[in-house]
Amino acid sequence: MFHAEINRTLTAAVNLMNTSEGLHSAQASPDQLTSIESLRKFLSSQDSELKWPTSTLDRAQVDSVRDLRDTVHQIWGAAPITTKEPVEKINTLLEGVGTRVVRTSGGEEPQFRAVPIPVSTQLADVMTAAIADALQFLVVNDETGRMRTCKGDECDAVIVDLTRNRSKLFCDFGNCANRAHVRAYRARQAALREAGRRALAGEAAEPSATLAKPSAAEKAAQINEPTSESAVAAKEFRDRMRDELMEKREKKDKKSKKKKDKKKAKK
Ligand SMILES: [Zn+2]
Repeated sequence: MFHAEINRTLTAAVNLMNTSEGLHSAQASPDQLTSIESLRKFLSSQDSELKWPTSTLDRAQVDSVRDLRDTVHQIWGAAPITTKEPVEKINTLLEGVGTRVVRTSGGEEPQFRAVPIPVSTQLADVMTAAIADALQFLVVNDETGRMRTCKGDECDAVIVDLTRNRSKLFCDFGNCANRAHVRAYRARQAALREAGRRALAGEAAEPSATLAKPSAAEKAAQINEPTSESAVAAKEFRDRMRDELMEKREKKDKKSKKKKDKKKAKK
């Protein structure tokens, strides 16, 4: 979505936050950043292009990285950022961080880009400079709506939406997206059954109107999101219904074909 450096830093920031104790796709996830060894393991699983130094790891670095994790988590939780407080937190992380201009590898990217200069070569300072730089990039480009938490039930994993159409709503830890789809499908099936029952009972109810209504959870999600994101959620909802609607349409076509056939027969 953005340039490669920002993308990989935001991804690593998300991975860092998700080492916190929490629920990932209905599974309890313990704190995964408790020792020098676990910090080393975390770093080795990140994109090596980040070039985060691993030679100076000690307990103080573990504690500093944990502090950074907490601060970034707080900033992320405030997204989309519209108030002064999270911005001040980013500014605190940026204290002493400089900027230099480097030539990029080219391709579709601009020829040069600005990269942060950390206050030292120690791991926590390098990580702080990179992540704070990526966060300020999102703030100044009005893209903090991409800093999200998974929409799945029983999941507090953070995600960064790097898709062009802002469509990422679920984490990749388990089956959050699937579970939500199954739930939405079941809700629609229940609505369909209810509509069928009403039709049989002679109550006036338009099945398709009932069918198109979003579930309570989806409504709540829309309320909690700015307009553009609720539009995305609505789009995803519509996409999920597409198969079902196509199926309905096919049935309708068959019906109208039968009617036509009947008319033809009458003629
Ligand atoms: Zn999730």
